[in-house]
Amino acid sequence: MLTQAPKGTRDVPMTESYKWQYVEERIRRMTALAGLREVRTPMFEHTELFLRSVGDTTDVVQKEMYTFMDKGGRSITLKPEGTASVVRSFIESRLYAETLPAKMYYLSMPNFRYEKPQNGRLREFHQFGVEVFGAPLATEDAELIALAWNITSSLGVSGLELHINSIGCPECRARYYEALRAFFAPKLSGMCENCKGRFERNPMRLLDCKEEACKAAAAGAPKMIDYLCEDCSSHFETLKQALSALGIAYTIDPQIVRGLDYYTKTVFEIIARLPEGPLTVCGGGRYDHLIEEVGGPAMAGVGFGMGMERLLMVMEQTGVVIPKPDLLEVYIANYGEKARMAALELCAALRREGVRADIDHVGRSMKAQFKYADKSGAAYVITIGEDELTGGQVKLRHMESHVEKPFALSDAAGIAAFVKGQNHAE
Ligand code: ATP
Ligand code: MG
Repeated sequence: MLTQAPKGTRDVPMTESYKWQYVEERIRRMTALAGLREVRTPMFEHTELFLRSVGDTTDVVQKEMYTFMDKGGRSITLKPEGTASVVRSFIESRLYAETLPAKMYYLSMPNFRYEKPQNGRLREFHQFGVEVFGAPLATEDAELIALAWNITSSLGVSGLELHINSIGCPECRARYYEALRAFFAPKLSGMCENCKGRFERNPMRLLDCKEEACKAAAAGAPKMIDYLCEDCSSHFETLKQALSALGIAYTIDPQIVRGLDYYTKTVFEIIARLPEGPLTVCGGGRYDHLIEEVGGPAMAGVGFGMGMERLLMVMEQTGVVIPKPDLLEVYIANYGEKARMAALELCAALRREGVRADIDHVGRSMKAQFKYADKSGAAYVITIGEDELTGGQVKLRHMESHVEKPFALSDAAGIAAFVKGQNHAE
């Protein structure tokens, strides 16, 4: 037990974190290009927030939340998703009174869901997400979909599919619910207990159930897009036009209803076709009533969440190679007490000059120190022993070519300039 992480959690060991950093850097660059700023919110919130926003008929709320009473008797829930917190924070910090729209993202945000751990399904996972508040037009939906899409394709992921749908607004959805109830009523006895419970309050949830029997029962169900009101219908038309203008191919998929209650109009998923089956890497949509529902002003919202573990998993499975950065640029091998002190000083000076450098603190043999230098990817090694101390000169040895260049022991700036100029480890 002691050496086993809790079920459904995964470490990112130091040997793997460069992959996360690579993806995170790409995301930061692309979100900055789109004028988004980062938001950070706490890991837990009042349970009430999720009941109100995610919706109490959803799988997330009914089965998956990590909820507990804290020592002050408050019901607390570890965040199962990102949007509710971001909305809460936006309202609490009164950002709605400032320049709108507000465009923000969160990166590698931890989310917790008590799910059956399996391929691509963890109990603690991380999301990159985007939320835009105050932009009601469908062109914004298209921009966000394009951002999510372009991030995945710029990371080299191929074979993804974009599925879009519209789930309308409360007005047109009421008519659709009636049609759905009429469709499901004769089949309900063969469906799961959850679905029976949701039939009255939220029959659209029946389309999202993962039970085999329920999936079968949902085949041929009426489609929301056939029930859209004029406003929702023209929103959907504009979305399709804008996606085409941006060169993003999509499939209209009436099965996409999303797992959370707050969506209106546009919903979408980016799906990877893996050998074990389809896996949703990114999901999102519009939520024009959520901000008001949580206690803010009436304001449009649209966003998406992308699972970081799933994205990395799909990258790996589709053969994307993430370049492994070299740990060090210069390694300073040394022998003898005095030499170690000089190495310590030179190393510190090199780091001040922006060079990634390290020295031996193990007292290993020269041979072992060179081996370590090689493994750490250092392009150069400097050796310091008696002779170098007496002469005040060191040689910067290029590991690959064995070419050596002399420098004064005190000339960290010169060494740094040379190393950087050669651009070996950049
Ligand atoms: P699913 O239908 O796969 O359960 P969901 O609709 O519950 O997904 P969202 O709430 O839309 O998922 O979450 C956004 C993204 O977060 C998903 O597209 C996925 O990439 C990721 N995600 C969701 N649940 C998990 C999980 N348990 N483990 C890892 N990633 C997850
Ligand atoms: Mg889920």
